[in-house]
Amino acid sequence: MMDDSVAKAREAIRDARSIAVLTGAGISAESGIPTFRDAMTGLWARFRPEDLATPEAFQRDPRTVWDWYAARRAQAADALPNAGHRALAALEEACAARGAEFILVTQNVDGLHHASGSRNVVELHGSIRRVKCFDNGHPASSWDPDGAPPRCLACGAMLRPDVVWFGEVLPGGALDAALRAAAKCDVLLSVGTSGLVEPAASLAFAALEAGAAVIEVNPAATPLTPHVTLALRGAAGEILPRLVV
Ligand SMILES: [Zn+2]
Repeated sequence: MMDDSVAKAREAIRDARSIAVLTGAGISAESGIPTFRDAMTGLWARFRPEDLATPEAFQRDPRTVWDWYAARRAQAADALPNAGHRALAALEEACAARGAEFILVTQNVDGLHHASGSRNVVELHGSIRRVKCFDNGHPASSWDPDGAPPRCLACGAMLRPDVVWFGEVLPGGALDAALRAAAKCDVLLSVGTSGLVEPAASLAFAALEAGAAVIEVNPAATPLTPHVTLALRGAAGEILPRLVV
């Protein structure tokens, strides 16, 4: 049964002229990166998410928020892309070789897709590997590691991680680009995400409404599962390499 679904998924991917992929925390977890909430242990257990990931928290206690993201950045820097990340990079290569479109939309902020060679990546929630200033959004490529938080060289404002905090809107253009891709793809792969958290749901349903095959890769069933074309149960690192060979 499962082998049959894998074969069908592989065929749909092989024939697609346009592929969109959505990834969530599950594929990062396979590289040892805990979810935001799972990382709130030890020193961080006494905080609430809104103490660590809102503009108000940063204004109130910039040091704590900066240190939290410094810890997350160090964790991501130590993590390696897994077989799932590598399979998606290989799929992008294969699409380029045959003239098919490929876009990877991720909810993850760890940068592991870039690290594994993916190029056309939309980071819906930003990246902890980038920083920008709080006041004007000036990007900063280097900063004083001893300052906490360091200052923007352009305007002197405090630097903050370039991620989307609770209560903030998604980066301009990112969601639009993702929705456009979902609405015109032939195949949408939903990987390691619960599927009904926005904007994942919008992307999957935009693809379904446009007649695309939606293929879910996740260890457990999700609220999206009853709606998808094919549901493949398993880890991204186990399933994805079987889809792109
Ligand atoms: Zn600035």
